[in-house]
Amino acid sequence: MSAPIIQGWCPGALRPMLSGDGLVVRIRAQGGRLEPETLRGIADLARRFGNGLIDLSARANLQLRGATEATHAPLIDGLRALSLIDASPEAEARRNIIVTPFWAEGDGSADLAARLAKALAQADAPQTPGKFGYAVDTGPAPVLSDVSADIRIERDTSGNLILRADGSDAALPVTPATAVPAALDLARWFLASGGAPSGRGRMAAHLARGATLPETFRPIPRRNGAPAPAPGPLPQGFLAAFAFGQIDAETLGALAGLGPIRLTPWRMVLIEGATTAPAIPGLITDPADPILNVTACTGAPGCPQALGETRALARRIAPLVPKGTLLHVSGCAKGCAHPGKADFALTATLDGFKGARNATAAEAAARPSTVPVGPSDLSLWLNQPTAPEKP
Ligand code: SF4
Repeated sequence: MSAPIIQGWCPGALRPMLSGDGLVVRIRAQGGRLEPETLRGIADLARRFGNGLIDLSARANLQLRGATEATHAPLIDGLRALSLIDASPEAEARRNIIVTPFWAEGDGSADLAARLAKALAQADAPQTPGKFGYAVDTGPAPVLSDVSADIRIERDTSGNLILRADGSDAALPVTPATAVPAALDLARWFLASGGAPSGRGRMAAHLARGATLPETFRPIPRRNGAPAPAPGPLPQGFLAAFAFGQIDAETLGALAGLGPIRLTPWRMVLIEGATTAPAIPGLITDPADPILNVTACTGAPGCPQALGETRALARRIAPLVPKGTLLHVSGCAKGCAHPGKADFALTATLDGFKGARNATAAEAAARPSTVPVGPSDLSLWLNQPTAPEKP
């Protein structure tokens, strides 16, 4: 098994990442919301300066694929004209904010997110590590509890705002006026207390190593988080998914005809105000669609680290995956598409695909023997979950 390369930072627009199909240019939409005009602009730029493919990331961002060294500069100019570019790569890296897509008009979530973004754009904002981020989970119910973030603005069981360090049962009561300054103070505390010794680090790991939060933090019970939602109508609009979380420029342009969209960390978009399933090809609107049973990274040939093709295999075996379970097909042990455990993990290795139940991609890759990926073999493996696995 070849070890995957850990980057330790997330790609941005100003600091793109090279993948097998070119540069990946990540757009961090302000407040996670895009107006129709902006959507049309992004679709046009993706066609002209990329390969027309756009990923929805697990951090509720868009990733334009297939840019080149020659097209990166005009792509950035185009994105800047759409107000999607930060003042510097550092400011872009700091503005790592996920907002609940289910905020309601007047609940203050959009305002909090906008003020947090403005504060993080200041030159003296805490320069936290590349993967360090903030969650504004202040909608009617918490939905971002399982989404990666280090500093969380939430509500307590009475609906009052609190600030929570990820991984802690303690939180700080805040108000709409103090939430953002308190979030930045917590980020400064993280850095000053040694949370990122060599420029890398996450809040939960820092606390697990024994760091003690400032004494103003006190135990405040968590509210039960809602499970990840499925495609369908919701009070705020219609939630639509895409196979492997990837949209093409044409589909993105078509979405613009429906209204503003909100990006989600579940690789789905919320079409604001829509009440019925939009008739746009490529949208997954049926929660029973088998393609939702599988997740797969770019794999070969799009990713230079891939040791196998992933998405055709995942499409082929999606109908075989038992209802209510998830199969993760990964091009290598890094497991980009699903960092946690999946009910079934199939990982490409130098020897072939290796599989494991209730495992991460890395755990599957570490299995000693390969699994045959023919439909009948996989059907047997997927549908006999209690059968002993070969060592
Ligand atoms: S998990 Fe997939 S996308 Fe991530 S590095 Fe490996 S092959 Fe590439």
